[in-house]
Amino acid sequence: MEKRYLFTPGPTPVPPEVLAAMAEPMVHHRGADFRAVYERALARLQDVFRTQSDVLLFAASGTGAMDSAAANLCAPGDRVAVVTAGAFGERWVAICDQYGLDVQRIAYQWGEVPLPDEVGAAVAESGANVVFCTHSETSTGVVADVQALKQAVGQATLVVDAISSLGAVPLETDAWAIDVVLSGSQKALMCPPGLAMAAIAEPLWERLPQARSFYFDWRRTRKAQQVFDAAFTPAVSLIRGLDVALGLIMEAGLDAAYERHVRLGRAARAGLKAMGLELFSPDDDSSAVVTVANVPDGVDGTELLRHLRDRHGVTLAPGQGNLKGKIFRIGHIGWFDVFDIAAALAAVELSLTELGAEIERGVAVPRAFEAFEELGLRG
Ligand SMILES: *Cc1c(COP(=O)(O)O)cnc(C)c1O
Repeated sequence: MEKRYLFTPGPTPVPPEVLAAMAEPMVHHRGADFRAVYERALARLQDVFRTQSDVLLFAASGTGAMDSAAANLCAPGDRVAVVTAGAFGERWVAICDQYGLDVQRIAYQWGEVPLPDEVGAAVAESGANVVFCTHSETSTGVVADVQALKQAVGQATLVVDAISSLGAVPLETDAWAIDVVLSGSQKALMCPPGLAMAAIAEPLWERLPQARSFYFDWRRTRKAQQVFDAAFTPAVSLIRGLDVALGLIMEAGLDAAYERHVRLGRAARAGLKAMGLELFSPDDDSSAVVTVANVPDGVDGTELLRHLRDRHGVTLAPGQGNLKGKIFRIGHIGWFDVFDIAAALAAVELSLTELGAEIERGVAVPRAFEAFEELGLRG
């Protein structure tokens, strides 16, 4: 049996304690056994989201939370703004189109960092009352400054897709007055896919139109959650796992998690550069979720990833959209440490060599460890 290594920005590796919790016998979701777990998991979600508001929990992939935002915040024909700079910004556009919204794109090239002043001016000009954006654009490695984006859009409702960022990079839902923050279980929250979350700021509740989804109706979900009795059968085993995973995160503390992600990003960048590769993601500490490199000349990115997987059991993430075959992505969110980065770098180095690329050998891993150990976090 060959060992497999998962270095993708979702799904991510799941700690054994979390896997063990999910293997426990089934209990009924309306009994006292489950209620205690549910209540604790919901409270822990508020801690990780940094909010006093209810965090709604759905059985869905992360996109379910995005879908729920469009379904609960907007009526048909409403003018909305979408900040796009990658594949997940495009997903917002597709969701809003499907709900028949009047979408004003605030478009950046894939890999660009959205500029708050520009976004603020474009939102004001568009007259949109709801703005959809992406915190960590997982397709490019860019992490946007959502605190500044909220300041820039002023009274407009800001909806933040924090699916790959929550628990990895700082996000202060209440302190930054972010209206809606969405996340999912299979990224930095160290769980399998299947749970989606939405934190909704208190003042919004009075202004919500009639929800256009039955299952994802925020009001119905909140009403049930407030008495710890889910509206529909919750994903019992996943919530057991989530409870344990959030407990692990909070035990070490969010600051420790943020610092680890910064240092893992540094290690990944230092190693890739030492090999002679060019970074696609920003070469600074903002890029703490996923590190993206250009595939070197003469190598086909699709073949590189296939080779890594089939020959060495290592799974990295490919480029999406137009970047397919041109870049590869190393995720380092959630249950990752520097040895994972070392393994990913060593596998990339070996595979590129086997595919005939001219790269610097034997330096990436030591440079990664050095960068990981460097003291002093900026910001
Ligand atoms: C993973 C991810 C999603 C959601 O993907 P699902 O496959 O629906 O869980 C959305 N946005 C971003 C930025 C992501 O990284």
